[in-house]
Amino acid sequence: MSHQSHFSTLPLISGSSAESIEPYAVRRIICIGRNYEEHAKEMGHAPNEAPPFFFYKPITALLPAGIHGTTYAAGESPFQLPHYSQNIHHELELAIAIGHKPNEDAPEQAILGCGLALDMTCRDTQAESKKGGRPWDTAKGFDYSAPCSDLIAMNWNEIEALGDFTLTHNEQCVQKGNITQMIWPIPQLITEVMRSTQLDYGDIILTGTPAGVGAVNKGDTLKAYCDDERLTLNLNIEK
Ligand code: MG
Repeated sequence: MSHQSHFSTLPLISGSSAESIEPYAVRRIICIGRNYEEHAKEMGHAPNEAPPFFFYKPITALLPAGIHGTTYAAGESPFQLPHYSQNIHHELELAIAIGHKPNEDAPEQAILGCGLALDMTCRDTQAESKKGGRPWDTAKGFDYSAPCSDLIAMNWNEIEALGDFTLTHNEQCVQKGNITQMIWPIPQLITEVMRSTQLDYGDIILTGTPAGVGAVNKGDTLKAYCDDERLTLNLNIEK
């Protein structure tokens, strides 16, 4: 019997009246950097200075944190603040699930659905890595550093019509994003990523974070939601 040390699927919900839930097998978590003007500014960068870039989180970063995802009793969440960081930030992001190989002419047709995710980031080790010209893995790729809501099957038109998505930190609203604020629209992001790698079923794209990133501490509660209530994410930081 194998011991499951990480998660490899997210619940994918389809159908609004009679919901069906099937597992979506995640193969890669692809994270876009600097896709919101106000967040680029808060990190000290000029927005629009360069095309979007991306990095990967390992599959061991995945943490189902939605309504149908795994729920944990108090004190039992596998999410832990990395011991080597004193400044761990939340980054709320819209997650796009790819359903098949995108077509060059209409990349948005490859979208199978969306979710809300947190790109948890050790800001201090990220700054040290940047300074030293080293990779970001310890800052961005630690275990369970990508909590994700359930995925909802949606086409591009439905995703475009989504309202604001919001993150509360200990019940205070800290981040609010909207697809219209993205510097690079999602179809262009898909095209840009496709310049470097073949996207396919199982690839989840975290589309960048709006302004308002901030540090979390033991005992804190993070909750992300959208006007579609099925898009809800809960993360309790263990004491
Ligand atoms: Mg991010």
